Amino acid sequence: MKCPKCGQPLKPSQKDPDYMLCFNCRKKFKVPGTKRRGEEEESQKYANIPPKKVRDKREKEMRKAYDELLSVEEERPRKRPKRRPEPEVEDDYYDLEDDKVSKVPVIILGIAIVAVAALIIYMLLK
Ligand SMILES: [Zn+2]
Repeated sequence: MKCPKCGQPLKPSQKDPDYMLCFNCRKKFKVPGTKRRGEEEESQKYANIPPKKVRDKREKEMRKAYDELLSVEEERPRKRPKRRPEPEVEDDYYDLEDDKVSKVPVIILGIAIVAVAALIIYMLLK
C-alpha cells in the first residue's frame, strides 16, 4: 500500500495494526478490510457515540485548527523545524508531536502577556 498523498510506501503501525503510517507526511491511514472493522460497526449499532478513535481524531483536528487560528492572530509564523523521520522511529513519534502542538498556545500566550506588560510599563513611564 502506498501513501495516497505522496506515494511513499506506508509502514504498518505497531500500536494499531489497522493503520498504516506515512512517515513522509506524518499521516495515518486506515487499512481497508481488517478484522476490527466489524467490531467498530457493531459497537456503533449499540451506541450513538462515535468510537473513541473518531472522537480523538476530531478533537485533534479542532485543536490543530485552533492553534492555526492563534498563530494567524498573533501574526507570528511558527517555525516548524523539518525533522527528517528516522527509520527506527515508532508510533510514539506521534505522541511526541501531540505534546509539542499542545504547548504552542501556552508559549504564544506567555509572549503576548510579556508584550502587554512591557507596553503598560512603557506607557506609565512616558
Ligand atoms: Zn505520505
